Amino acid sequence: MSATWMQTARRLLPRLAGLLREIRPTFHLGSVKDLNAGSLRDLGVEAVLWDVDGTLMAHHAGGVDPALAAGFEDLLRAPGLRHAIVSNCQEARFAELGEIFPAIPVVLGYETGAGAAFRVRRGPRESWRGPGAAAASSDGGRPPGELRPIRKPSRGLVQAALDELNVTERPAAALMVGDQYFTDIASANLAGVRSVKVPTLHRASFPAPVRWSQRLETVLYRLKYGRPRPGSA
Ligand SMILES: [Mg+2]
Repeated sequence: MSATWMQTARRLLPRLAGLLREIRPTFHLGSVKDLNAGSLRDLGVEAVLWDVDGTLMAHHAGGVDPALAAGFEDLLRAPGLRHAIVSNCQEARFAELGEIFPAIPVVLGYETGAGAAFRVRRGPRESWRGPGAAAASSDGGRPPGELRPIRKPSRGLVQAALDELNVTERPAAALMVGDQYFTDIASANLAGVRSVKVPTLHRASFPAPVRWSQRLETVLYRLKYGRPRPGSA
């Protein structure tokens, strides 16, 4: 995990100033529980892109947080809503997420010499899309170890999820839900997708460096945009 965090930090720091313009969500909500199918339909949302850790469960937990599970299941069953997971996870967690969310595509991305490759897991099945798909999937369906993962913030990851949910040309029909400004919300804004920022669930479950980065991004957000009010940007 700390390796993941280091990679994220190394990629983010040079981009920090530019990204500060991209971290303002459409809505701040107190909890995922505040989302319901009716209000999403009223907003014209057809596709919901979910962050997992800190948004739907504690860090690397094995299932949706019990306090959110019923409402989340309602959203999954709601007619007219499609869902995808856009996570910054690594290999082992990718397989786990496929098991935790068997009915929802989980999207990962890799840089290849031939362009970006996006790997989509639906339960036990995997498929690849993007210009680098053939290059990345040639190794028995698993990405060669030297491929660099594409992590949030990433416009491409969000677009791959939009492709998967058949709203490629209609980013306004999508909503990203996440707990981090510089990864989840910035990804959404870079892709022209509306977003909901929720407080991090079970903050104490995260490794210390992640907790520090969460604290830092909250401070940076407030310095630039002021204190957020629940229900508004
Ligand atoms: Mg998160």
